[in-house]
Amino acid sequence: MIRMINVSKLFGDFVALDDVSLSVAAGERVVICGPSGSGKSTLIRCINRLEPHDRGRIIVDGLELDEDMANLRSVRQEVGMVFQQFNLFPHLTVLENLTLGPIRVRRMARPAAEALARQYLERVHIPEQADKYPGQLSGGQQQRVAIARALCMEPRIMLFDEPTSALDPEMIKEVLDVMVELAGTGMTMLCVTHEMGFARKVADRMVFMEAGRIVETAPPEAFFTAPASPRARLFLDQVL
Ligand code: ADP
Ligand code: MG
Repeated sequence: MIRMINVSKLFGDFVALDDVSLSVAAGERVVICGPSGSGKSTLIRCINRLEPHDRGRIIVDGLELDEDMANLRSVRQEVGMVFQQFNLFPHLTVLENLTLGPIRVRRMARPAAEALARQYLERVHIPEQADKYPGQLSGGQQQRVAIARALCMEPRIMLFDEPTSALDPEMIKEVLDVMVELAGTGMTMLCVTHEMGFARKVADRMVFMEAGRIVETAPPEAFFTAPASPRARLFLDQVL
């Protein structure tokens, strides 16, 4: 579903991604972790070309990410993304946030888009919040709206970049629970998170990054019990 082959990304002289190769199969759940500044967000952002890569190849569901705008549009319709900051439109209601993409991008009729939106609000367990504005919701509810909004585009891949890092502790679980349920549907997921309980529960594979490189890739059991690299061991000592 996703193939990154020898991908590098530079910001000026600074190498943010250094010869990264990673493949994610359909239905696979991959959790990326690593210290701050190791390139996790950059990797995720390259997959829908929020950051264009400088070297190597990225192929998403058979479509090469390059200058071809038609390919990029197709990829972006297949890839949903959830950020640390929820990025909801504050002047639109929850329902309007959810129907915007389906109406504008997928050219759905409003009634159909609203039916779809309500279906996904049910899925994230907040159907009663449809007519509120984001500012009237808790952080955990806003992040679940953001997940529902991404799902309304009916993506084949979901990318998460530290979706619970901005949340108060008591709201983290309600968001992780929704992500676990989503994993149960067979969605292809690539998640940057330091929630290691979540990772143990859903990850098929752990990826550990440091200084723009993938240092280690392992099944969760092996990664958590006996990480191969000293740096990963140190990292796990800090987050577990
Ligand atoms: P992580 O998500 O693992 O914390 P990032 O991918 O956000 O790391 O960043 C990796 C490195 O690239 C950091 O050193 C960061 O400062 C740098 N970086 C990220 N985005 C930019 C940018 N737009 N311009 C310059 N440097 C950037
Ligand atoms: Mg980041």
